[in-house]
Amino acid sequence: MSYTFEPALPVGIPVRGQAALFPVHRVYCVGRNFAAHAVEMGHDPDKEPPFFFQKNPDNLTFDGEFPYPPLSSDVHHEIEMSCMLGSGGDDIAVGDALAHVFGYAVSLDMTRRDLQGQMKDLGRPWEIGKAFEHSGPCGAIVPASEIGHLDRGAIWLRISGEVRQEGDLSQMIWKVPEVISHLSRLFTLQAGDVIMTGTPSGVGPVRRGDRLHGHVDGLGDLEVSVV
Ligand code: MN
Repeated sequence: MSYTFEPALPVGIPVRGQAALFPVHRVYCVGRNFAAHAVEMGHDPDKEPPFFFQKNPDNLTFDGEFPYPPLSSDVHHEIEMSCMLGSGGDDIAVGDALAHVFGYAVSLDMTRRDLQGQMKDLGRPWEIGKAFEHSGPCGAIVPASEIGHLDRGAIWLRISGEVRQEGDLSQMIWKVPEVISHLSRLFTLQAGDVIMTGTPSGVGPVRRGDRLHGHVDGLGDLEVSVV
């Protein structure tokens, strides 16, 4: 097999306690999965089935830096737990879903809110607001074989010591097994898929020089500087 040029290697996420990297296939994101965040974005959390958008695998970063992106003056932080799949399939039952989870990590769904808002108003896709370069800072994966599965525990984001977002994983409207099951009816899930499971309330703008400090109980901390 040859290619017209050398293909890029897969994006690899560090795994706590292992030398091998987790090779990323796709990145799925859940929209408005915490009621208080749905309300702050102007929606009724009781009336929505789960919905999804995607980032690009190479939007994920692991170097602790977030370069402020172009063409936006309102870039928001969204702290999220990510769930990494070690296997996949179609039509996965809720009760079988957790068996496909390789592990979990702290991550950020950085968002050009102004561009996302313009696209929402026009009924256009969200990619320019969500799937831009460096938009997915991510911490090391903690394998489920070590910590089990996370359905409760604090999730928060601080900037310069000030709490900006604070919630609990138990507040997720659609739980991880339900998210996996829904997604597997829409797409063929595969080993290497990353699912960002949604953000609690308190999203807001970041500025150059900010130091973002995110945390999920059991997964540790993610520190990212806006440069
Ligand atoms: Mn998000």
